[in-house]
Amino acid sequence: MELITLFMTLCLNTGLPCDDIKVSYGSTPKNAEGVAELYSSGRMEIRLRPSIKLKSSQIKPALLHEISHLVTFQDLLLKGKTVNGDHNKRWLTHCKKLALDNDVAPRFACRNEKPAF
Ligand SMILES: [Zn+2]
Repeated sequence: MELITLFMTLCLNTGLPCDDIKVSYGSTPKNAEGVAELYSSGRMEIRLRPSIKLKSSQIKPALLHEISHLVTFQDLLLKGKTVNGDHNKRWLTHCKKLALDNDVAPRFACRNEKPAF
């Protein structure tokens, strides 16, 4: 399965504009598996660290982690709040729901530092 296909599967039912979100392997912050971006144009993007192989057990949790950030961004925007990428309670709530909806243990997708596996 390709990265985009996997992303589209996980993005379903999130309310995000899945078709317009760019998902790729690319540069990420130090010690981060991935990064989720919301640009001022409204465009969203996810980049994953290239060392996370598509067929590894890390890929779904990593994507769900970043998708949860995008869901949180959208949630904050719709409520007129300042968008941030914190691993706060709001993000955790979205992340846990998304993980469980996709048969991933929240402890793998919803941790706030580099996964140890
Ligand atoms: Zn994060």
